[in-house]
Amino acid sequence: MGEELILGIDLGTTNSVVAVIRNGEPVVLGEGEDRLLPSVVGLGPDGALLVGAPARNQGVLAPDRTVRSIKRKIGQETKIQLGDQQYTPQEISAMILRTLRQRAEKHLHLPVRKAVITVPAFFDENQRQATREGGELAGLEVMRIINEPTAASLTYDPTPDRQERILVYDLGGGTFDVSIVSLEEGVVEVLASHGDTHLGGDDFDQLLLDHLCDEFAREHRLDPRDSLAARSRLLRAAEDAKKQLSFEPFVTLQEEFLLESNGKPLHLQREIARREYEELIEPLILKTLRCVDDVLDDAHVAANQLDKVVLVGGASRTPLVHRLLQEQLGQPLHFEVDPDLCVAMGAAIQGGLIAGMDVGRVLVDITPHTLGIQAIAELQGLPSVNAFSPVIERNTPLPATRTQVYHTSYDGQEAAEINVFQGEDPDVRHNQQIGRLMLEGLADAPMGKEILVRFRLDLDGLLHVTAAERATGLEQQARIENAMSRFREEEQAAARQRLAMAFGHVDEVEAEAEHAEAASQSAGEPLPDELRQAVHQAQALIARAEQLSAADQEADDDEMGELVNALRTAIAARSLEDIQDITAKLDDVIYYLEEF
Ligand code: AMP
Repeated sequence: MGEELILGIDLGTTNSVVAVIRNGEPVVLGEGEDRLLPSVVGLGPDGALLVGAPARNQGVLAPDRTVRSIKRKIGQETKIQLGDQQYTPQEISAMILRTLRQRAEKHLHLPVRKAVITVPAFFDENQRQATREGGELAGLEVMRIINEPTAASLTYDPTPDRQERILVYDLGGGTFDVSIVSLEEGVVEVLASHGDTHLGGDDFDQLLLDHLCDEFAREHRLDPRDSLAARSRLLRAAEDAKKQLSFEPFVTLQEEFLLESNGKPLHLQREIARREYEELIEPLILKTLRCVDDVLDDAHVAANQLDKVVLVGGASRTPLVHRLLQEQLGQPLHFEVDPDLCVAMGAAIQGGLIAGMDVGRVLVDITPHTLGIQAIAELQGLPSVNAFSPVIERNTPLPATRTQVYHTSYDGQEAAEINVFQGEDPDVRHNQQIGRLMLEGLADAPMGKEILVRFRLDLDGLLHVTAAERATGLEQQARIENAMSRFREEEQAAARQRLAMAFGHVDEVEAEAEHAEAASQSAGEPLPDELRQAVHQAQALIARAEQLSAADQEADDDEMGELVNALRTAIAARSLEDIQDITAKLDDVIYYLEEF
């Protein structure tokens, strides 16, 4: 059995992940944060080999005994010094791959020998071959080397029944790639790929760090970047703050005893607003968007010809990325499969397909519609009170919590009305209102006072809305039950109405058939199948007859009218023979009237 298992391995620049197919679904091995193995190798103070988190943790203080980002060197004729030994990039990669294999064996309680490993689409033959060698050195039979964007696409639909063109936007810690993948009946092809091998979330951390240090240095005439310990502490804090800013509009960074000046400790406490952070990183995100344009040009595909836009890589969680990319492509984005784990899961799916398993797309609970509130903002270039401001985007995996900040719109505003809507239109009047909340008793203040609106959407579709005045903590809450299904029901009701308008009496026909069935059931005798079918057919024919007479006065034939009445009587009497007989006659009359 163990021989049949094929691991899916995402051998990343920053982190690596291993997954396998279980019960037809890809499962990432490990728990929580542990599922990401930092792609770092090192030697501990005692000379022991360290792989993953322990190696990463000692990296700042012992850079000469630590190797990171080996993926950037794979395929090169170079040697890496580690302790008193020299290693090839393949050997260092093999240490990471072997750790992943061991992790898998520990979880599965089985020996595993086979793997599919992913590489960036731009890797040349040399780099692919070296990756394969790394796998072999780790004791793995490398069944296939596949492209990362291909793996990501497979998680969304491994075997689509028609050709699909998917744009995969992959923003990781240190690299950015964007590719267009074509998927059709198991044939996968990367049509074009672009990117920047030195652009990613780490640059965002660095920008935030520099911003904080510049300010600190201006104030205290001491730069935290000059102290290795202070710098690394702040860098870690900046990364944490950055991640929180993906979900919250503000974050407070607090580092006590960061430095000392004349024997006095210096602390750093600083609130960062998402807006402020976004201004820092916007130029880098615009750079990725230029690559998106280039890849579309190269693949000769227009944005509206894409079947899907898929986000991959931890840094693709950045809200500004979502906003700008969606604006540029005019397409909904897909990020429901965890962007850190997506590539490994896709590699596992590929392994499953090679092993002849039946594997489907990765299923995740998501909100199928955007949830947001009514706000004053620009609508088609003009300020409007009907703008829809999203709080939780569509396709967000559940449970989800997001907070947005809004501002009062006039001086002395005493209350804020929070109207909750669901839908995709920038104008709330085209969306569905699902709830309302009043925050009353606001403190007297000039316009622009901050109001925080928090949405928490549970797995069961319960939406908790909280509105709070930031300065005073005044708060009001509401619960909206069945936020998702309610919309579906209302949508369905609207759809039924549209259908009824389009097809005339379809609804009544169904209703009558159901009525007949219900009547018979209440009499304790369910309709036999043959009778039920005959009734349905008869009802449909009556509807057609009525449509015909409504559309054309000439068709208002006496004979037809009589047959319709007779048929109704036969249905009421449950007479199968009569129903069939009259249905046949009515069918002839209708045929005649429709044809001639
Ligand atoms: P990867 O190389 O795909 O593992 O991506 C790692 C990068 O994603 C790092 O720069 C992380 O700081 C970043 N990242 C992870 N989670 C988030 C988040 N919630 N918001 C923004 N960036 C994130």
